[in-house]
Amino acid sequence: MSSPSTAASALDTIVALSKRRGFVYQSADIYGGLNGVYDFGHLGSLMLDNIRAAWKHSVKAQPYGPVMMLEGALLAPEAVWKASGHVDNFHDPMVDCTACKKRFRADEFDLSQGCPNCGAHAWTDIRQFNMMFKTQLGATADSSALAYLRPETAQAIFVNFKNVYSTYRVKLPFGIAQIGKSFRNEITPKQFLFRVREFEQMELEWFCKPTESDNFFDIWQAARRNFYRAIGLRDENVRMRPHAADELAHYSKCCIDVEYQFPFGWKELEGIAHRSDFDLSQHASHSGKDLNVFDEELKLSYTPHVVECSVGTGRLFLALLFDAYHEDTLGGEQRVVLKLAPQIAPIKAAFLPLVKKLNEPMFAIYEAIARRGIEVEFDDSGSIGKRYRRHDEIGTPVCFTYDFDSQNDHCITARNRDTLVQERISIDSLERYLNDLLR
Ligand code: ATP
Repeated sequence: MSSPSTAASALDTIVALSKRRGFVYQSADIYGGLNGVYDFGHLGSLMLDNIRAAWKHSVKAQPYGPVMMLEGALLAPEAVWKASGHVDNFHDPMVDCTACKKRFRADEFDLSQGCPNCGAHAWTDIRQFNMMFKTQLGATADSSALAYLRPETAQAIFVNFKNVYSTYRVKLPFGIAQIGKSFRNEITPKQFLFRVREFEQMELEWFCKPTESDNFFDIWQAARRNFYRAIGLRDENVRMRPHAADELAHYSKCCIDVEYQFPFGWKELEGIAHRSDFDLSQHASHSGKDLNVFDEELKLSYTPHVVECSVGTGRLFLALLFDAYHEDTLGGEQRVVLKLAPQIAPIKAAFLPLVKKLNEPMFAIYEAIARRGIEVEFDDSGSIGKRYRRHDEIGTPVCFTYDFDSQNDHCITARNRDTLVQERISIDSLERYLNDLLR
């Protein structure tokens, strides 16, 4: 991010821009808002779709094996979460200040320094708080009706492993990928989209022979690093951080976090975990079903190993906004510009008639491109300068202007968001120009 100097003002700037331009709204805000829950507006939804498409492409575009898609249910019975370890292990330590009644995560600061809100030294005991949302299916209240909203998408993949394996007759190695909502009752949701209670994850579980899992752990680290480069995050803001032994989750043999340098510090964007055979073995033993595969070449049955790559779509969305945000001055006026990669930008091009009198021919050009399925906007409101500013602020990579010369030379002016270079291009070559831009 280039400009706002403190973490708080940087965050406020992005929250305000997101609301002002229709990227993200506080959920249920006319009722005072729901803490840790957000809605995405038109531009936000378009940008999320672009992030999902880029992610899907990146996990499939590799030479090692096929990646199958899955869309699992959001609810799963308690048995699944017992086997996965979430019922017993998925909790955060919680503490309350008895003076101001505020609640905190006890592992986020030094309790001996007193309450960050009121300064008192009046803590309750630390309790373990399970972050899953629990619910009851149907009218019966016995334990067989207990279900949980999933706190990660991964378990639906493990539970369906044998279904996918036998339906598609795939051979190892292969991946199962899923994009979908997860729910965590975070004690302290904060930093806008960074830590929320309802969020989307993009997860890949890569199944392979046990002897190949260490190698695939390395391969996926490199692939994921390249993904962040390809979608435009600046190199200096992304780093790979291996977990120390005492940080490892109960399921993981080794783990690397892809971290992004947010204005509030280096934080996890994606977790890449070597899960060995933990999940499939757990589900096999809890369900009593055989989840092994039979290797025809080796004449051997074994439990596949898993390498997992898991990233939050909203957290990545936030990182992309911070990374792209720039302020500069243009003709003495301050300009805000989102330098998003064209593939991520919600609107790919804006079609701006110089004056209303020229609306008709420009609208016809815009419509022809829109019908091709490229996300473009026609905008005839306000001065041309104002329209440029709006599109700079939402990250539109190029603005086309139709002027009085266009009627004679059959060309329009293309203005580049980042370089501000303007060039005349033939209307006939417009689609090619846009396809080149989006490649
Ligand atoms: P953190 O340490 O930040 O709580 P985690 O290690 O619990 O994250 P994972 O369980 O590895 O997270 O989840 C994978 C990814 O899902 C994270 O890297 C992050 O991008 C996203 N994610 C997890 N929890 C949240 C949340 N509460 N809000 C938004 N995104 C989240």
